[in-house]
Amino acid sequence: MNTVRKSYIETFGCQMNERDSEIMGQLLNNADYSPTNDIQQADIIVINTCSIREKAEQKVYSLLGRLRKLKEKNPALIISVAGCVAQQEGERLQARMPLVDIVLGPQHIYRLPELVSKATLKGMPQIAVDLSPSFEIPRYVPPSPLMFRQKDERPVSPDHFKKFVTIMQGCNNFCTYCVVPYTRGRETSRDPDDIITEIMALAEHGVKEITLLGQNVNSYGKPLNNGRQHTSFSKLLRKVAAIDSIKRIRFTTSHPKDLSHDLIECFAEIEKLCPHFHLPVQSGSNHILKRMNRGYTAEEYLAKVDTLHNVRPDIVLTTDIIVGFPGETDKDFQATMDLLKTVRYHGVFSFKYSDRPQAKAVAFSEKIADEVKSERLSCLQDSQNKISLQRNREYEGSIQLVMIEGLSKNGDGQWSGRTMGNIIVNFEGPSTLSIGQEVAVIIKEGLLHSLRGALVL
Ligand code: SAM
Ligand code: SF4
Repeated sequence: MNTVRKSYIETFGCQMNERDSEIMGQLLNNADYSPTNDIQQADIIVINTCSIREKAEQKVYSLLGRLRKLKEKNPALIISVAGCVAQQEGERLQARMPLVDIVLGPQHIYRLPELVSKATLKGMPQIAVDLSPSFEIPRYVPPSPLMFRQKDERPVSPDHFKKFVTIMQGCNNFCTYCVVPYTRGRETSRDPDDIITEIMALAEHGVKEITLLGQNVNSYGKPLNNGRQHTSFSKLLRKVAAIDSIKRIRFTTSHPKDLSHDLIECFAEIEKLCPHFHLPVQSGSNHILKRMNRGYTAEEYLAKVDTLHNVRPDIVLTTDIIVGFPGETDKDFQATMDLLKTVRYHGVFSFKYSDRPQAKAVAFSEKIADEVKSERLSCLQDSQNKISLQRNREYEGSIQLVMIEGLSKNGDGQWSGRTMGNIIVNFEGPSTLSIGQEVAVIIKEGLLHSLRGALVL
């Protein structure tokens, strides 16, 4: 009889959720559950959810619907729903989906093993969704050995050399369209010593690239609830850069209003800081930015972009844009299109506005019809695709330092990796190369979403 208990985790949404899932995986591993990729084999299933847009939420309910048969076959199976939908729906979710045993919000992920024991022993659903205004991210969870390759083993996936590290949780900005302050709670920064301890442990296990995560990393360092600590984000970056074997540092996401000169200067000073900046603008219209409560104008945003370009001319800029926010006129939308042409982003994540529970904009009048949103979205994406292609063509003939992530998804035997600016490069090279190795590649062709090149010998 197979006595090894198995855990299966499905993650929706952002990188913060990916890291939260990894933490829950570590905790389950410490509680003697080993991970499986086969949902049919699982003794516990965790669905880590996202509610940032309506579509993301619908996916969760459709997956839960599909799990009914599994639960009928194996009533001892524990089904847990974590993340923002869990926080938002709480008991309602369990009432609507009685097959769910555990509902836990983002502040409660560290309690997963305890909730599993309670659900198993008591046979009662466990709901953990209180949002504490004085929440602090618990101290460092030691990485599970399963997360790493064995000593002397060649890395077999990017997971073996690049990792996310959460540096803060929650958000105080209350953009009027956004659910995050209600699902992830008030902003809290993690102790810098704790962050550095975690990164040093990762570095010891062969990790070379770190992405620092938070909803608004630019405001990292506001005092902790216990009154300690005043490290700014730029100071934290310098501390991470001082760890010898960390070769690449990235971060996401940044709020334009909190982008300081000090942080911009880091791009000139810290060689390991990758020249990629994801700076969500949301709209190019001041009227809409005001209604969104973003705290900057298009002109202020563009001035910061100019400074970034002056300090680091090779910087790769990406952004998020919402179309069809309540009250967005053709003129407002045109202002967004104009901004795209001015900045010439390398890439844009664009979304149709959707009402989110508790967000202020739910009550805004002048809602935009779905056909208009769709038209604006495809117009914006067409225009951006042309810009992205032009941007990528500008690399033709240049030599880029590429960190190898594996074989190309095209199945043509080529290697695939990323530039310092985070652009995917597929290139020809010998089979003796390995994942995690940094190599020079000459770029031969710029495509819409990637570059093609050859190893410089
Ligand atoms: N904290 C980041 C910031 O300040 O921009 C991003 C947070 S959110 C996880 C990612 C993106 O989802 C946002 O930048 C926004 O473009 C989009 N988004 C958030 N709420 C939305 C909504 N109600 N409808 C459509 N898109 C939304
Ligand atoms: Fe949401 Fe705005 Fe906070 Fe980003 S800054 S998480 S968009 S409230």
